[in-house]
Amino acid sequence: SPADVADIGVTGMAVMGSNLARNFARNGFKVAIHNRSVGKTEKVMNEHGSDGEFYPSESMADFVASLQKPRVAIIMVKAGKPTDAVIDELASLMDEGDIIVDAGNALFTDTRRREAALREKGLHFVGAGVSGGEEGALNGPSIMPGGTKESYQRLGPMFEKISAHVDGEPCCTHVGADGAGHFVKMVHNGIEYADMQVISEAYDMMSKALGMSAPEIGEVFAEWNKGDLESFLIEITAEVLAHTDADSGLPYVDVILDRAAQKGTGAWTVQTALDLGVPVTGIAEATFARFVSGSVPQREAARAVLPAEADAPEIADREQFIDDLQKALYAAKLVSYSQGFDEIAKGADEYGWDINLGDMARIWRGGCIIRARFLNRITEAYERTPDLALLLADEYFTTEIAKCIPAWRRVVAYAATAGYPVPVFASTLSYYDAVRAERLPAALVQAQRDFFGAHTYQRVDAEGTYHVEWSEDR
Ligand code: NAP
Repeated sequence: SPADVADIGVTGMAVMGSNLARNFARNGFKVAIHNRSVGKTEKVMNEHGSDGEFYPSESMADFVASLQKPRVAIIMVKAGKPTDAVIDELASLMDEGDIIVDAGNALFTDTRRREAALREKGLHFVGAGVSGGEEGALNGPSIMPGGTKESYQRLGPMFEKISAHVDGEPCCTHVGADGAGHFVKMVHNGIEYADMQVISEAYDMMSKALGMSAPEIGEVFAEWNKGDLESFLIEITAEVLAHTDADSGLPYVDVILDRAAQKGTGAWTVQTALDLGVPVTGIAEATFARFVSGSVPQREAARAVLPAEADAPEIADREQFIDDLQKALYAAKLVSYSQGFDEIAKGADEYGWDINLGDMARIWRGGCIIRARFLNRITEAYERTPDLALLLADEYFTTEIAKCIPAWRRVVAYAATAGYPVPVFASTLSYYDAVRAERLPAALVQAQRDFFGAHTYQRVDAEGTYHVEWSEDR
């Protein structure tokens, strides 16, 4: 490759990296490409060389040399140790002021560590969350870059150009310093887990309580997709449920083993929430629901001795029940998002990131898995009240949830009576009731802690810290 020519480079030509490189090329950028093993680079050139101006290199040294200064090299390789190896190799070849971007799914604490180490060397390190899978990488993802503001001046115009666009606005903005981008991408994935689980709970209730077939349920989701729930996940759910397995003639979903896998970003969101002390109950229950589904010996042992409820109560009004499910789904979704944004706000406090919460919802409107019309409502909520303590307290949320409450309670009550698991429907309702409660039983917990551990407590009617000799004072 000639020297000092490419606008940007991508190393890692597997699915994600090659699609991202093609996206840059199709948008008129000169793109340097590289892969550890040369075969993948050749494949991109053979199959997609005509997408735009590519500058392939076999060695990392040639790859770096082909970049215009200040250089921008995007890493899209396997997360973890491979990413560290590639960072080290790149850093040894780059000069002060150059920018290394990790666009893989890194844990934000790794990104913070890497950013600090590269800053010592005068390099910018940007952890960029990229959402939307293969299709998004090629046609316009949602991009969440962290790192310095200075690095965003160079990166921003290119990233914004290749990102998804909604209402003419790019689904990309500078999130905040060091690991902020990967942090927000992590919470995005956690919210995605909660969204997927509540949708599945609504499906499960229609299937079990109403005995509806998968295609019938698919039609309901297709209908819901025309209203407030309109979103990519509802849309693909309708499509999935309409699919038939060619071999068995059964609905496709019925031949899929009921064990949900995960790559770990939901668990990261929950672990981080525990560290920060943020109650993300919807995301946590959604993550645990996947673990329950995969607990095969435990499920077998339990199923053998714990029978299902004998008689689920008859549902008199099926239309009403389906309408209730739609409202329960919307309310549970609103709570999950409120909780996710609470985690982003706490993370920003803890790590000193200046994150514009409304902008996060704005850049999720396109390109990513949780893209939805409703995200505009979140942006508007933060525009109304920039220092909003909790999304649920915004007037749109309070009004919408009020409309859903009776239905939501009926769904959770019915599920409990009939013996159907609804971990996200139920936990988000409990959270809603707890967070708005005048008084919580935490007072009793404090008393118990003080009883057995002299942990002290505070009073409602006076300042200070108290301890009681419980066995003496009656
Ligand atoms: P991948 O399967 O995660 O990784 C394969 C790539 O990593 C290949 O280019 C491979 O090179 C390279 N690699 C592995 N070990 C290496 C090492 N030690 N040194 C140098 N290169 C090494 O690829 P992917 O599925 O395209 O994903 C790339 C990244 O995007 C990952 O971080 C993944 O988590 C993330 N991802 C994101 C989404 C999303 O929706 N945002 C979806 C999928 C993946 P060789 O060809 O030489 O083996």
